[in-house]
Amino acid sequence: MTPPVVVNSMRPLHIGIAGAGLAGRCLAWRLARAGHRVTLLDSRQRDALDTAAMVAAAMLSPLAELAVSDAVVFALGKRSMELWPQWIAELHAGHPSPDAQPVYFRQQGTLVVAHAPDQSSMSHFTRLLQHKLPASHRDQVQALDAAAVAALEPALAGRFHSGLYLQGEGQLANDQWMAALALELDRLGVVWQEGVTVHTLEAQRIRGTAGSGELDITVDLVVDARGFGSKHLLNDLRGVRGEVLRVSCPGVVLQRPVRLMHPRYMLYVAPRPDHQFVVGATELESEDTGAVTLRSMLELGSALYSLHPAFGEARLERLSAALRPALDNDRPACLLQDGVWHINGLYRHGYLCAPALVDSLIQKIQETHP
Ligand SMILES: Cc1cc2nc3c(=O)[nH]c(=O)nc-3n(C[C@H](O)[C@H](O)[C@H](O)COP(=O)(O)OP(=O)(O)OC[C@H]3O[C@@H](n4cnc5c(N)ncnc54)[C@H](O)[C@@H]3O)c2cc1C
Repeated sequence: MTPPVVVNSMRPLHIGIAGAGLAGRCLAWRLARAGHRVTLLDSRQRDALDTAAMVAAAMLSPLAELAVSDAVVFALGKRSMELWPQWIAELHAGHPSPDAQPVYFRQQGTLVVAHAPDQSSMSHFTRLLQHKLPASHRDQVQALDAAAVAALEPALAGRFHSGLYLQGEGQLANDQWMAALALELDRLGVVWQEGVTVHTLEAQRIRGTAGSGELDITVDLVVDARGFGSKHLLNDLRGVRGEVLRVSCPGVVLQRPVRLMHPRYMLYVAPRPDHQFVVGATELESEDTGAVTLRSMLELGSALYSLHPAFGEARLERLSAALRPALDNDRPACLLQDGVWHINGLYRHGYLCAPALVDSLIQKIQETHP
């Protein structure tokens, strides 16, 4: 196992971070708890719901994602799966107040199923995984018969002849994680300026607009974590639209995320506390930031209904859309460009990769600022 990154040996710096989404917020936390002075700037309010970080399903799926990614993402995901429980424990230890909401985190694997006419989608997915997975991880993909599917998820008993179990995969409630981090950043004294649109980044200077005023700050080091908001600076950055439904449905109980294979789309249903489910997600090569379309709602909704008819009574709590920030190779990256660090390209596996990626950025910063 890779040893944890020790950042305390760095001299304390004043670090300015543009963007308080998933990457910016995680990085601010790790730097602040290591003793650095952090200023965090974001154009939105901290509880805005329209960022990729807040729209995401936050499934932690190194195995399932390997079917659509590569060994780099798999390695980051594998390392992050070790770090997530530590990070969550550290966050809870940081603010033991009874008001602080515990972050829902589960690591009970993923169930993959397909309806009988769609078995070829399932076979293809299985072969792809077996082909791409390192031999040492192949036993984490287990074929299930109908009885084993029913034993794992009693709600799905009798509905599927077979399935796959992806052992060790997890999920967390992203809204709880983002809210808990915000509380902790306040406690650690991070200066967080909301409503600041950053427009210019230099090696030690950040400029932006706040309402009708201009903001101009000098720091020791600048990190750009604006996700798709950095498109004008990173040539190969694109937005990939994703839409999700959040529903509540006391009539169905699932223990773990369920993926439904289908020739046109891959549906996932991630259970959350209080009978809620995140249902997603569309994956459209489009930078449209408009509201969820009727077509997407119908496709996600009918796939959900086909998983279990009791979902027909689900209440729609929220429909949301956001752009996943992706680089041409679809891998996350930490890049130094003109003296400014960029953490970007988290695409569809930001939660999966964030802990390992943030640690690796801190390590790189440490090498350049010993
Ligand atoms: C539908 C959907 C489902 C997903 N599901 C999963 C999943 O199951 N598992 C998983 O691992 N990942 C998932 N993801 C991916 C994950 O959400 C992203 O990879 C991650 O949120 C990207 O993090 P980020 O910090 O780069 O960008 P963001 O989270 O978008 O944050 C960027 C921040 O920068 C701010 N900003 C932008 N421009 C400016 C500016 N000019 N000035 C100041 N601030 C600015 C924004 O307000 C925002 O707060 C999903 C994403 C989507 C959209």
